[in-house]
Amino acid sequence: MAGFVVGLTGGIGSGKTTVSNLFARLGIEIADADVVARTIVEPGKSAHEAIRERFGESILLHDGSLNRAKLREIVFSNNSDRKWLENLTHGPIVQQLREIIASATSPYSVLVLSAGSGRSPMINKMLVIDVPEALQISRVTERDNNSIEQIKAIIKTQPSRQERLGWADDIITNDGSLENLRPEVEHLNHKYLILAADHG
Ligand code: ADP
Repeated sequence: MAGFVVGLTGGIGSGKTTVSNLFARLGIEIADADVVARTIVEPGKSAHEAIRERFGESILLHDGSLNRAKLREIVFSNNSDRKWLENLTHGPIVQQLREIIASATSPYSVLVLSAGSGRSPMINKMLVIDVPEALQISRVTERDNNSIEQIKAIIKTQPSRQERLGWADDIITNDGSLENLRPEVEHLNHKYLILAADHG
């Protein structure tokens, strides 16, 4: 089953995790690129070893796991390091996402794409979450321990709102309350169930 795949994207703090949790509550399989990206750099994985070789022992925490905050700081201030890391992790991430989708038992799957990726060939429909930048910044400062400057720098590396909206088949405007999101996701779920059934 689950041949039909809905891509879900949006900038940092737009609500990708929140919305994908709502789809999961409706029984839909979620393949989340950020979640997978974390698992492929666990100690023992080849990407973990390559990162340690490039950046040295100081990139690890005391328990041997990756200091992700430090790595993020490095790659968001250095383009060539960011490209290197993307090249290293892209293949294993895609492979694992494909495996999750292939083994899904729900009528369709939601593939949560990282904020930087565009329309993937793996998806049938693209759902974009759109929020004004000011809300993005205030929600991320509340969620993470990042400064406004850090968040603005991250947003700058991501595609613009306009560019993202250009990929969209469907749009969720996440500028209201969390309670408003649920009926929107239920409505989209209904639509995707019909599309998935037609898809065969
Ligand atoms: P992303 O996964 O796109 O980075 P999240 O789903 O983590 O974004 O959302 C960012 C933060 O904003 C989280 O703390 C989340 O709980 C909060 N949030 C998301 N949507 C809303 C909303 N409609 N109202 C209030 N807070 C929200």
